[in-house]
Amino acid sequence: MKFTRLRLSGFKSFVEPTDLLIEPGLTGIVGPNGCGKSNLLEGLRWAMGENSFKSMRGSGMEDVIFAGTNMRPARNHAEVTIYMDNQDRSAPSAYNDSEHLEVGRRIEKDKGSTYRINGKEVRAKDVQLLFADASTGSHSPALVKQGQITQLINSKPINRRRILEEAAGITGLHTRRHEAELR
Ligand code: ATP
Ligand code: MG
Repeated sequence: MKFTRLRLSGFKSFVEPTDLLIEPGLTGIVGPNGCGKSNLLEGLRWAMGENSFKSMRGSGMEDVIFAGTNMRPARNHAEVTIYMDNQDRSAPSAYNDSEHLEVGRRIEKDKGSTYRINGKEVRAKDVQLLFADASTGSHSPALVKQGQITQLINSKPINRRRILEEAAGITGLHTRRHEAELR
């Protein structure tokens, strides 16, 4: 699977629908302080099922919704969609008849989040598993947050282990085992 496009609407500083095209290879995002570089990465992680508002630099889950400025009123919902190319058929088998995948998350004030994969409403867990299997989950070492290198150096062994397990691609197995044990 490859990311091809990220669309944000009403998410943090991206109030108007904004598309970020992700070309093959390395993508760099440059711009002055406060222009929204970190918000883009947070949008990507949020749509992959990130559920820690602290790691989204907020004090509540609804803080990702555009809060308004002197010039523009606040929004009451935010939406982020990740577009992916699945021509190599590396998505989990449930999705492998699709050449393109579209994963969307939407949050509405007082109503919480809903998730969609290719237009069909799914659970947060389904989205998290889709990415956990591809070892690109919202906590993936492929997404390096500001200050994260320092955090990694200072982190406890158990947290460092989680990062290594995600890199090794076995996080999805752990989640599935846990689900199986609950049944
Ligand atoms: P730096 O170079 O300093 O790391 P950056 O490009 O990473 O900056 P971000 O942290 O992505 O910038 O963006 C910060 C901006 O996003 C701030 O101006 C902040 O007010 C705005 N912002 C964050 N959340 C919201 C929100 N819910 N509604 C409106 N604006 C928001
Ligand atoms: Mg930043």
